[in-house]
Amino acid sequence: MKDYIIADPWKIIESSYDAHLHPNTESLMSLGNGRMGQRANYAETYTGESLLGNYIAGIYYPDKTRVGWWKNGYPEYFAKVLNSVNWAKLRIYIDDEEVDLYTATILSYHRELDMQAGILKRKVVIKTKSGKSVNLSTERFMSIADQESCYLRYTLSSDQSAEVLIHSILDFNVRNQDANYDEDFWTDRKQGFNGETSYVSATTKRTAFEVTAACITTCHIAEERLTGVPSHDKGQSSSIYTTTLSADTDLTLVKKVAITSSFYYDQAVEKEAINKAASLPPFDEAFAAHSDLWRQRWDLCDIQIEGDVKAQQGIRFNIFQLYQTYSGEDARLNIGPKGFTGEKYGGSTYWDTEAYCLPFYMSTAPPEVARNLLVYRHNHLPRAIENAEKLGFKNGAALYPMVTINGEECHNEWEITFEEIHRNGAIAYAIYNYIKYTGDKDYITSHGLEVLIGISRFWAQRVHLSPASSQYVMLGVTGPNEYENNVDNNWYTNYIARWCLTYSKEIIHDLKAKDLGEYQRIVDLTNLTDGELDLWSDIIARMYLPYDEDKGIYVQHDGYLHNEDITVKDLHPEDRPLNQNWSWDRILRSPFIKQADVLQGIYFFEDDFSSEEIKRNFDYYEPRTVHESSLSPCVHAILAASIGEKEKAYEMYVRTARLDLDDYNNDTEDGCHITSMAGTWMSIVQGFAGMRVVNDMLSFSPFLPDQWTSYSFHINFRGTTVKIHVLNDEIKVHNLGNEPIDIIISSHQYNVAGQSHQSMKI
Ligand code: BGC
Repeated sequence: MKDYIIADPWKIIESSYDAHLHPNTESLMSLGNGRMGQRANYAETYTGESLLGNYIAGIYYPDKTRVGWWKNGYPEYFAKVLNSVNWAKLRIYIDDEEVDLYTATILSYHRELDMQAGILKRKVVIKTKSGKSVNLSTERFMSIADQESCYLRYTLSSDQSAEVLIHSILDFNVRNQDANYDEDFWTDRKQGFNGETSYVSATTKRTAFEVTAACITTCHIAEERLTGVPSHDKGQSSSIYTTTLSADTDLTLVKKVAITSSFYYDQAVEKEAINKAASLPPFDEAFAAHSDLWRQRWDLCDIQIEGDVKAQQGIRFNIFQLYQTYSGEDARLNIGPKGFTGEKYGGSTYWDTEAYCLPFYMSTAPPEVARNLLVYRHNHLPRAIENAEKLGFKNGAALYPMVTINGEECHNEWEITFEEIHRNGAIAYAIYNYIKYTGDKDYITSHGLEVLIGISRFWAQRVHLSPASSQYVMLGVTGPNEYENNVDNNWYTNYIARWCLTYSKEIIHDLKAKDLGEYQRIVDLTNLTDGELDLWSDIIARMYLPYDEDKGIYVQHDGYLHNEDITVKDLHPEDRPLNQNWSWDRILRSPFIKQADVLQGIYFFEDDFSSEEIKRNFDYYEPRTVHESSLSPCVHAILAASIGEKEKAYEMYVRTARLDLDDYNNDTEDGCHITSMAGTWMSIVQGFAGMRVVNDMLSFSPFLPDQWTSYSFHINFRGTTVKIHVLNDEIKVHNLGNEPIDIIISSHQYNVAGQSHQSMKI
């Protein structure tokens, strides 16, 4: 764990320079606007360890699969999120000495990411070899008001007169560090100038995505504008400024950059960028529009915590990064586990979206955002059916990919690609969850039911009737706990499969009763037969779910209880995280659980279990869980809260909220864990505040962690917005809509008039 980020309610602050921490901070201070993003690489040359990263949503490269031993069914490629044009790049020379913070003598250093306004700032003073003190200040943002634009402002001054040379560069000579065969994914690089606008463009090999960046650089000393000399070379174009800077005088350079791609333009991508750059407003004006929108966004999505600044910083960091990654206007985009903060975890969509991110967007964004996340999977249904066919399934069975960017599976580890099929369940569950939350029942006939039928067909073909027990079993799977592979009858997977069949049947039954025409349309569209439905009923009735009578717990999978009876407390601290210290076989032979598995199922289907059952299972599995997946602690936080284990809930909250800030899993340098950030939000809203939807009403069973004096947040629910403020023994509900709402607080129902607040004891 690293504890170097200064606590602040709205900012992520680094108050000194440390080369070892630099790759971490590059991840933490990443910027993004839903359409593109970048790691917080220094603009100037930096020769220390760094992961250069600029990413554009939707632009990927199908990197040829690399595995040790090919297995039939492996996808041909892994969709890599592409490192794209480096738009912020500068090269700065003071008296012929190039500025490089890795080698420079740093006199003072301060860098901060201001999350309230969405801007990254840095102030550094260095001493040059000739003994001059040079101030370097920089600010940059990626506009959410105009998602094709980004800005950098750089101010330089010296205590003595100095010769200054600056190259303001657009650089498309970039590579992915994680390329499987060290291949250059870009081709057809072009560069040049159109008047004062520099541009570079390139096209991806195989996928033929085109990206152009166009930039207008201005450089001033006081009111005097310096003239830049244009220069270009393959994949690069620069404006070069040379001047003698008098002592204590500011030189200010501004880059206004427009980035366009063929994801949004059928043609003339280059022209669009060049025209756009010419029409971009000045830095301050653009920043005002951008930061205003951030403030408006925060009004709805913020969680305010009183009395615990680190917890406050943690939740805002998580919310900020989520909205930087995905803002939901485009149903072709999704939320990659690293967002725009790193290359690891190619593709863009995992089950993380449905299981973790959906609730966050349902409650904090306009309704179409969550719907777009669901439509994304509906659009991929034909590919999910193809994906299942490749593995030998038939008759419209759909297996959604473990990792995808275009609907096709691109993950290639057999124990995950072929076996971690529980992902299909989360996609079905998201449809249920969305309808339960929004009441948007039309979604079922317009999109949802087709997906449910495809997934149900998969489960019906994936199980088989055991001749030994006459129960349906599912062999050779990997559950959410990836520290056990190729197991039989993972309880979570069997449970969600059975639930999915039950839910699909209920929906079909209801539709037939209420709208025969629509029912018939879907039956015709999917060729659904009564025989299939009968089989589903039989599976529902005879699905095997491992259970241990003595312990009164659901057993993670057949054989799990043969493991050595030790818990996380028995581990040496230096063994953690296990995946960086133990051989894989040692992990597989151990009882240690990477992430919530049985408890994940109990969280999803909470109403099916008594609180005693939840407690028994929690008490058994929590001490065996190492939470080495970022997705794990939030589920434990929510369950701990529901069974009254407040301290545990708080511990799990801190772990999820500050996972990246404090680098709990020693991997922040690869990028931030974006998808689990939604789990941080869930830990507070569903955990501490106990929010559920009960009989079409919002329901809360709140408590206040001892470390806090209060917390508050807004919830979007069915056309209205409610502000919830939890204090020690009281909850204040403010209905910001015009219509009255019914709301349940600690099991009592209240009616809160529109535009009014009410206070209830908890
Ligand atoms: C987790 C998966 C998750 C993936 C991406 C893995 O470490 O085990 O459940 O989908 O990360 O977040």
